[in-house]
Amino acid sequence: MDTIRNKSSLYIVATPIGNMQDITYRAVDTLKQVAYIVCEDTRHSGKLLKKLNIQKPLISLHSHNELNASNNIIQKIKEGYSIALVSDAGTPLISDPGQILIDLAHKNDIKVIPIPGASALTCAISALGTSSSFIFHGFLPTKQQKREFLLTSMSDFVGTHVIYEAPHRMEKTLNSIVDIFGEDFNIGIARELTKIYEEIRWVKVSEYIKEKESNFLGEYVLVLPVKDIDDFDHKENAYELLRALLKRDNSVKDSVKVASKYLSNAQKSNLYKMALEIHSEYFE
Ligand code: SAM
Repeated sequence: MDTIRNKSSLYIVATPIGNMQDITYRAVDTLKQVAYIVCEDTRHSGKLLKKLNIQKPLISLHSHNELNASNNIIQKIKEGYSIALVSDAGTPLISDPGQILIDLAHKNDIKVIPIPGASALTCAISALGTSSSFIFHGFLPTKQQKREFLLTSMSDFVGTHVIYEAPHRMEKTLNSIVDIFGEDFNIGIARELTKIYEEIRWVKVSEYIKEKESNFLGEYVLVLPVKDIDDFDHKENAYELLRALLKRDNSVKDSVKVASKYLSNAQKSNLYKMALEIHSEYFE
């Protein structure tokens, strides 16, 4: 790779999400060889570069200066400089700034070269075992109404839904999940990945809220497996199945009819009682 001129390229370089050893050889080589490093927070990335013994001019790019900074960076690349984009942690653009820069690079026929590495998203879905089909939402909206609207719309898509969450918003988000999917809904927790207090497990959402007693620490990825009706095959899932059916605008009567086909051991009268309760609690 050429150091400064004649290799006008934009490198998208992944950095660790906690454990420093997760930087790749190729990432280090690239950061050593480019002319400039674009980062969100120069102080934060400065520390990483210091540990790697790399001294480069840094260019700051964040949500408040994204258009201007991106135009300047494109200009520099057109002049012949190679530039690397890093974010505060993990893979740039995965819930991080950089979209405008990449759009401009493609529009200007600039070579965009990924240097892959850590991301909380891929760590979470692989370690929780839900990687075959998933939808990534990034951070949920902060406003309760919008957040719950998005969560509700997730129940229309069967498969795994992945969200990022900051500790101070965890309680509200988990309460919204209870409201939309019920307290028995099983969620995947991937917290503090690659760090000392790493926590990766499946748990009922209500149990997790109880366990943490409003004391949510660290960074979170939450995995929400939205099931197909055919997947509700056990008696104990009657509640979840009825809820899913009622949510799809089925009447109480129709929901019980469908549910009783799947739950051959359940008494229809019990299902009916349960459906009425769910209907009055959530859908009236
Ligand atoms: N670009 C990053 C990536 O590739 O994962 C994500 C950046 S986004 C601004 C920060 C969010 O990612 C955090 O709020 C958290 O949801 C998630 N995250 C980042 N590091 C994490 C970690 N070590 N463990 C769990 N989640 C993490």
